[in-house]
Amino acid sequence: MNMTDTEYIYGQLGISGVVRAYGRKTEEGLRERFRQFDDTAEYNQLKVLHAMQENRVSESCFNYVSGYGYNDLGRDTLEAVYASTFHTEAALVRPQITCGTHALALALSANLRPGDELLSPAGKPYDTLEEVIGIRPSRGSLAEYKVTYRQVELTKDGLFDYPAIERALNKKTRLVTIQRSKGYQTRPSYSVEQIGELIAFIKKRRPDVICMVDNCYGEFVERMEPGDVGADMTVGSLIKNPGGGLAPIGGYIAGKRELIENCACRLTAPGLGREVGASLGVMQSFYQGFFLAPAVVCGALKGAVFAAGIYEGLGFPVIPDSRESRHDIIQAVTLGSPEGVIAFCRGIQAAAPVDSYVSPEPWAMPGYDSDVIMAAGAFVQGSSVELSADGPIRPPYAVYFQGGLTWNHAKLGILKSLQSLVDAGVVSDDEIRRVL
Ligand SMILES: *Cc1c(COP(=O)(O)O)cnc(C)c1O
Repeated sequence: MNMTDTEYIYGQLGISGVVRAYGRKTEEGLRERFRQFDDTAEYNQLKVLHAMQENRVSESCFNYVSGYGYNDLGRDTLEAVYASTFHTEAALVRPQITCGTHALALALSANLRPGDELLSPAGKPYDTLEEVIGIRPSRGSLAEYKVTYRQVELTKDGLFDYPAIERALNKKTRLVTIQRSKGYQTRPSYSVEQIGELIAFIKKRRPDVICMVDNCYGEFVERMEPGDVGADMTVGSLIKNPGGGLAPIGGYIAGKRELIENCACRLTAPGLGREVGASLGVMQSFYQGFFLAPAVVCGALKGAVFAAGIYEGLGFPVIPDSRESRHDIIQAVTLGSPEGVIAFCRGIQAAAPVDSYVSPEPWAMPGYDSDVIMAAGAFVQGSSVELSADGPIRPPYAVYFQGGLTWNHAKLGILKSLQSLVDAGVVSDDEIRRVL
């Protein structure tokens, strides 16, 4: 074999011929899906490009601004680019918004007042929001500020329980929070269209209620975003999809001008609002990451369906399966044993460009009720648009896999995860040969 052969370098990276052959066969069966992802990426790339041209992005937008940050052209223009892309009146996009949880907490605390009620019509929100809301008592929670909370459980099929939502809406209800991605739950993720139906249902009964969508992991997966279907605020993290892997920090809130002004006053100070907040040299990475994001998300989606295809073919339960429509970049694979979860994550880690030589171990992470193992060899700490996986060490022993800045890297990561399962004796070469 020649050293410029792809087979040769897969061998150097520790992938056996059997695993490689199974990967080739799986990929072959996904051609049509990949083509659809490419079509969506083409549309979204043009949407972002159009927004950048329309808002006259220029080289001076990348200048370093320090201090108060008055008239920070790069920051103000980027916010206009986000608003154009998401078809909203305004946006707040800042390195001072430290992460997705912070962006969500900001959107909530800026637009809720004592005596108001927050409603989650789609069941339990993301883990970190429990302390923001005060579902788990916590310092500084909305509950401490006399904001009450109500939650409507999903139907057993994971769909919205409309009659129960109707009953839960009351005269105190001020804001409704809808999470697009399943996060670490086993419910389905929602399409933008489904979210639109829910918003229309709520607005028909209570036009004054603010509808907020937690858009984490959802950006650029579809052609529409929540703002296109009536969301008043759309919220997300820049170390996930819209940062394109280049943003080193940040969060965004896009939506109605009034609500975004409230967020700005809460982020900085009443009277200062969005006028302050220097961008400190991160602007080029914010623009360039946003520009690349549609292509990065496309690669991550290919990785997600490839992982689904590889593992469903070997009989492991996967959510979603390789044929279902996608509404976020997360792929869940149930491996059924602690050894499986650990081997999978070690394979992902071994495929990383950074820290590939370390071997992750399960540990007692704050906020979780069991040990958790995480694989991440990322350029940006904790960035989960980069190839990453994590799994709680408890039944049903599922891992959540996401990201990959390029499809080729995501593919290697998944092959490496399978190789690691083979090396650990969880899957045998014979089992793979049987499905070849
Ligand atoms: C990641 C995530 C968050 C929180 O974002 P962080 O940046 O980790 O704070 C909130 N909601 C959902 C659905 C997420 O996936």
